[in-house]
Amino acid sequence: MRIFRQAQELQQFALETRRAGKSIALVPTMGFLHAGHASLIDIARGRADVVIVSIFVNPTQFGPGEDLDKYPRDFEHDRLVCEEHGADVIFAPEPGAMYAPDASTWVEETVLSRPLCGARRPGHFRGVATVVTKLFHLALPDVAVFGRKDAQQLLVIKRMVRDLNFPIEIVAAPLVRGADGLALSSRNRYLSEEEHQRALVLSRSLRAAKPALEEAGISAAPAIIAAIRHEIEAAGGHVDYVEALDVDTLAEPTETTREVLLALAAYFGSTRLIDNELVQVKK
Ligand code: AMP
Repeated sequence: MRIFRQAQELQQFALETRRAGKSIALVPTMGFLHAGHASLIDIARGRADVVIVSIFVNPTQFGPGEDLDKYPRDFEHDRLVCEEHGADVIFAPEPGAMYAPDASTWVEETVLSRPLCGARRPGHFRGVATVVTKLFHLALPDVAVFGRKDAQQLLVIKRMVRDLNFPIEIVAAPLVRGADGLALSSRNRYLSEEEHQRALVLSRSLRAAKPALEEAGISAAPAIIAAIRHEIEAAGGHVDYVEALDVDTLAEPTETTREVLLALAAYFGSTRLIDNELVQVKK
């Protein structure tokens, strides 16, 4: 397994790989890898000759006062996970190797990035779209794998790839949960044992809401959302948002809605967690 720290090294490698007729799969991550990330690497491994995992805590997707400085890092552990899962390359640049000090060009998706996390984290998806574009230009992948854990991010990236004609297939990987139901996240590391236990309400309430929404239809969404909010607050969480939106538009559902993204964000202590379920809408 090769480790690159410089953008040009990766791009050179990717150009040579493609010239040799080999296909490339990219798995973009911020590191501190867990079984959710590993599942993405496994999927990538099955989709291309060469698997590149990027590990980069991207400063442009963090807002002021967010956890950029304390975001957990463990390169040795990440290296082992990548090796175990058959990655060929780790790309782990320092911020200075990714952004010129006077960088002034951004990529911005302007519709799907607005609600949910976009409304609470201004500039977040602009940072994501920009860094993913840069990673695409450096790793030159045929396929890139993103997790459904970050459902809105996946939709934004798919839209960007469509709108800007990237010749890249975006593969959606299932959300991986711990045995207790909590969606795996590098940020779970911030939770105390008690907060972790309290946070199980997120997956529990979503799991209960899914069949209820499927059964009762979209008209029941406000009551179901209110119930989820209540459960989270009763468990000692602080709700950032709970919303049910049309998965194609991320707008309020209409008669033509086929599937709803039931998405939430909530704080346990100072840790902000997200989770979601996709719900088929009864016609
Ligand atoms: P992150 O390192 O949190 O930026 O995540 C990198 C990639 O891994 C993104 O595509 C995430 O959606 C995906 N990912 C993170 N956690 C999970 C999970 N629990 N299940 C599936 N994919 C995940």
